[in-house]
Amino acid sequence: MQCPFCGQDNDKVVDSRSSEGGRVVRRRRECIACERRFTTYERPEETLRLTVVKKDGSRVPYERDKVIASLQKACYKRKVTDDQIRQIVDATEEEIFRRFEKAVPSSFIGDTVAERLKKVDKIAYVRFASVYREFTDVGELIEDAQEARQTPSIGPEQKELFGSQ
Ligand SMILES: [Zn+2]
Repeated sequence: MQCPFCGQDNDKVVDSRSSEGGRVVRRRRECIACERRFTTYERPEETLRLTVVKKDGSRVPYERDKVIASLQKACYKRKVTDDQIRQIVDATEEEIFRRFEKAVPSSFIGDTVAERLKKVDKIAYVRFASVYREFTDVGELIEDAQEARQTPSIGPEQKELFGSQ
């Protein structure tokens, strides 16, 4: 495994454990060249064969990277770490595998991600939800935005939500 810090392909595994009911093996590795530690996640290939059923009925392969990218976009300039994003996606995948076998509706992924993101960062949640959950009406979006505004942890940049992107 190539070290993300120095690029050397020479490491030792210092810890290994499975999570998500054994679906994922998490390995803590230490680079022998620079001695820094990093984590890798191993998933069975089946994960990648999951199909997403879109609202119009079309099917596309599930791509974890796309979910991560959409979250990163929603979390732009918010205090949400990559680890938190990965945890949201891990938890969402776990939920998918508990409830669906081979195909999952895109709305389920969007809803599950949105609900988890809501607990982490309300502004990022509203951004994400307005794009991916497709609010049933504008009123619902405004309600969510007001709820976010009332949360004391939200910083002064909240108005950017409604500004030009
Ligand atoms: Zn290294």
